[in-house]
Amino acid sequence: MPILPRALELHGDLTQIRRDIHAHPELAFAEQRTSDLVAAKLAEYGCEVHRGLAKTGVVGTLRRGNSLRAVGLRADMDCLPMQELNSFAHVSTHDGRMHACGHDGHTTMLLGAARILAETRNFEGAVHFIFQPAEEGGGGGKVMIDEGLFEKFPCDGVFAMHNMPDIPVGHIGARPGPLLASSDRFDIRIKGYGTQITLALQTIVSRNMDPIDNAIVTIGFMKGGSAYNVIPDELIIGGTARAFRPEVRDLIERRLGEIARGTAATFGATAEVDYKRNYPPTINDATEAAFAADVAAEICGEAAVDRDIRPSLGSEDFSYLLNARPGAMLWLGNGKGEGGCYLHNAKYDFNDSAIPTGVSFFVRLAERFLAREA
Ligand SMILES: [Zn+2]
Ligand SMILES: [Zn+2]
Repeated sequence: MPILPRALELHGDLTQIRRDIHAHPELAFAEQRTSDLVAAKLAEYGCEVHRGLAKTGVVGTLRRGNSLRAVGLRADMDCLPMQELNSFAHVSTHDGRMHACGHDGHTTMLLGAARILAETRNFEGAVHFIFQPAEEGGGGGKVMIDEGLFEKFPCDGVFAMHNMPDIPVGHIGARPGPLLASSDRFDIRIKGYGTQITLALQTIVSRNMDPIDNAIVTIGFMKGGSAYNVIPDELIIGGTARAFRPEVRDLIERRLGEIARGTAATFGATAEVDYKRNYPPTINDATEAAFAADVAAEICGEAAVDRDIRPSLGSEDFSYLLNARPGAMLWLGNGKGEGGCYLHNAKYDFNDSAIPTGVSFFVRLAERFLAREA
């Protein structure tokens, strides 16, 4: 039996929880209702409950036996600041807030896994269920780490799933190495003539990089001047940079500064570069990604597991957890979105039929990880 029978029995209950969270979306660090709900459910299931990391973060813990081995399973709880355009019964009850990234589903599946693992306790060691705030830009995962997540809850490995439209329900995507990109922003303030710089910036990707080290430098805006007949004395260029490897990210930051300042100097202008690092690339540990893919194959069947899924140019703050501990993030198939719509779309909705697969995967992953020698 690949999907756990208990996960199928709980499918109705979990669907209700998922839709309740969907109807009450909360923004970064303000996930109070969601956090209360998560803490209450974890306590009801029999977990130790710890609250307060990163304001609304919750960690549930199950322990059994004397083994010191521990695994962390992570879900994110926040929504996006956008207006939902769906019309079903569980549509957002809050104007301008919406679960358009399926974090309602992530939270629900991790609750389901906690419930089953609390019932069966078929493991030795500790399972930490990490519910973090503020994935969408606020870096809630990083704040939890900074506030002592892994000192309070030592983990030998950390794992997470993200729901993914266009992958069929019942399928899981894995990959060793980079899964998602870094997402940085930059502003270049040029005093004097400046437009040559935007052309030169494109050469960072085209000339300074190995083509397999995919990276993107995008100019998002240029601002300067306010009259037709006056050459502006200041130009501001803003953009984003994405990379899959830390070395490439360092290279982009360095070359961006060199090119902007160098090009400005040739025109007798000056350039100030403000490069703001946001989320780092999300890089799966090769061993843990292969291990997680094996567990996925046990649940879904080998044919439904893609072990070398294409990386995405999106970004994730699970990257901070993976920089701190070995582990992996996987894609959970969410099927075709309504009208083919994608994550962060005003019509997106997590697909409840994916719940039993995700719950079964988390449960088996914890059991198998804790049963391993190291
Ligand atoms: Zn998102
Ligand atoms: Zn997300």
